[in-house]
Amino acid sequence: MRVPIIAGNWKMNTTIAEAEALVRQMLPELETIDGVETVVCPPFVSLDAVSRLTQGTSVQVGAQNLYHEPKGAYTGEVAPGMLVGVCRWVILGHSERRQYFHEDDRLVNQKVAAALDVGLKPILAVGERLEEREAGRTEEVIARQVRVGLESIPAPESLVIAYEPVWAIGTGRAASGDDANETIGLIRGLVAKQYGDAFAQRMRVLYGGSMTQDNVGGYMAMPEIDGGLIGGASLKAGDFVSIVRQAAEARRGQ
Ligand code: PEP
Repeated sequence: MRVPIIAGNWKMNTTIAEAEALVRQMLPELETIDGVETVVCPPFVSLDAVSRLTQGTSVQVGAQNLYHEPKGAYTGEVAPGMLVGVCRWVILGHSERRQYFHEDDRLVNQKVAAALDVGLKPILAVGERLEEREAGRTEEVIARQVRVGLESIPAPESLVIAYEPVWAIGTGRAASGDDANETIGLIRGLVAKQYGDAFAQRMRVLYGGSMTQDNVGGYMAMPEIDGGLIGGASLKAGDFVSIVRQAAEARRGQ
């Protein structure tokens, strides 16, 4: 059985002091929950502080982005090697990166490869926009994002994929459990074509998009859904803890 992951994407929120306070608030409760991998992804400037506070605990830390070059004249960017020792995970291809910073599948592919090269575990985010969904292009879009995003990358054992329909992110309009389950099944099928069925069955695929403490149970009851990538609700300690706790309980009950 795949161990679920609940990852909190704090986006461009929290100062260093606020990030420390948030993690301090969550930690004691999160430490009591077994059977789920819990990851928090604060902004770059807080990674070191959050990493120190979570050292030796069950809570893992992730970055929200990186640049694929190892070093050099890339003002404002952060190289994969700079994250080593500070965090274990990195979210790549988030729809906000694609939308506001014009990241395309090719660049995401370079970032995934660069993350794996230094031993970081990528959470590759894919998902269709509303107009793509309405045009019946969901499958085609997801297939392209997965195929190009993973092109020429040898079986990435640590890879996690997050299915995040763009229209569900930050909108309160979450995908139904059945819809998310179906699309995640499709993603697993695409991955099976590239890396084989055994690999695809081992790989965790998360749902993301307005997941909250009120709907997490429904997603976790679905056979293809291995957890969540949580935006807004990950900024409230009580809500995030509740999501992690329910994910653990749901998996125990299966
Ligand atoms: C996200 O940013 O990945 C996300 C899923 O956000 P939210 O939970 O706020 O929809």
